[in-house]
Amino acid sequence: MNVYTESFLRPEPWTVDALCATTDAEMFFPEIGDNATAANAKKVCAACPVIAECREYAARTGQQSGIWAGVTARAIQKTERAKRERAA
Ligand code: SF4
Repeated sequence: MNVYTESFLRPEPWTVDALCATTDAEMFFPEIGDNATAANAKKVCAACPVIAECREYAARTGQQSGIWAGVTARAIQKTERAKRERAA
């Protein structure tokens, strides 16, 4: 589940300001290798007023796919893993 579907079912307060809610949500889940679509999604994120909340949400909920807060979910999870390893 992602911000688009989960927020529809159980909205977090910050999602009302999510710019992706006003665009084609599929843009945020591009096909592998579709760099142009991913870049367009990242441009939307760059202007989004809730980018910090979005990143925190993606990290907290362990998102595994899609573009979140201007980066891939994998990049967020990789950063979070590195943080946990440093703290251990
Ligand atoms: S940062 Fe990007 S993915 Fe996150 S809520 Fe904003 S537009 Fe959506």
